[in-house]
Amino acid sequence: MTDTLRTLVFETASVRAQLVSLNDSWTAIARNHDHPPAVLEMLGQLVAASAVLSASLKFEGSLILQIQGDGPVKLAVAECNSRLGLRATVKIAEGTTIAPEATFAELVNQQGKGICVIVLDPRNRLPGQSPYQGVVPLVGNSVADALEAYMHSSEQLETRLVLNADATKASGLMLQQMPTSGGKSVEAQFDPDGWPRLVALANTLQADEHLSTALDELATRLFWEENPAVLADRHPHFECSCSADKVRSMLVTLGEAEVREALSENPTLEVQCDFCGTNYSFNQADCLALFKNDEGSDEEKPTLH
Ligand SMILES: [Zn+2]
Repeated sequence: MTDTLRTLVFETASVRAQLVSLNDSWTAIARNHDHPPAVLEMLGQLVAASAVLSASLKFEGSLILQIQGDGPVKLAVAECNSRLGLRATVKIAEGTTIAPEATFAELVNQQGKGICVIVLDPRNRLPGQSPYQGVVPLVGNSVADALEAYMHSSEQLETRLVLNADATKASGLMLQQMPTSGGKSVEAQFDPDGWPRLVALANTLQADEHLSTALDELATRLFWEENPAVLADRHPHFECSCSADKVRSMLVTLGEAEVREALSENPTLEVQCDFCGTNYSFNQADCLALFKNDEGSDEEKPTLH
């Protein structure tokens, strides 16, 4: 079964829905993380959320959702780019044990100090231009609650999110009330009861049904009386943007002293990607070459003047 992100439009209600069903991409992410079920469930929900939210990206680049927790889960990150390439990672505080059924608050908001960060990062940013970043406190009892609150305050759009995940499946449904700006004919047909009716339908969706039903069937089962138009079917996939070159620039930023110190303890420097687990290995000669080039260019500079 191919992973799918489907956009539906409910014309007279002026509502747009995004449905996502992730199987292959989510299992590709989840197998890099040997974490308790409660943590995987939260991460899967975050991944599904990144896919439905990125459906309306108006630029080439990435949407990144981060939960910075104050409990055993210090950080959960899900990233979706405009080609629907997905990746995610989690950092858990060392030495903590997490109950299989731990709640959202127990994982990331024990003292109410957890935050949720939404980053929109265009690929071709101008030099010096920072990515857009929105920060909100973690409210509610789930990833969906926190993101609904964010959408309400920042986008001023009524949003209903239903997110569910287990070890092999991550599913999302987002309903969004769109501004009505379609001229008189659309306004004449506008159905003000559409939004509450669609939200009521979304609220009937149980986790088991959400995770076990194919996207086609789920869309039909939920919305058959509403007769929505299918605007698009797209296919999310697992994709990590790490590369040896990016690790090299990271090492250069780290500085020669730090890199030399690390090398004094080990014959090679090993850097593992937090997202996909790929291991990048640099021996002494590789590392020193990085700084040799750097020094070289520095030395050449004075001759330019
Ligand atoms: Zn990677």
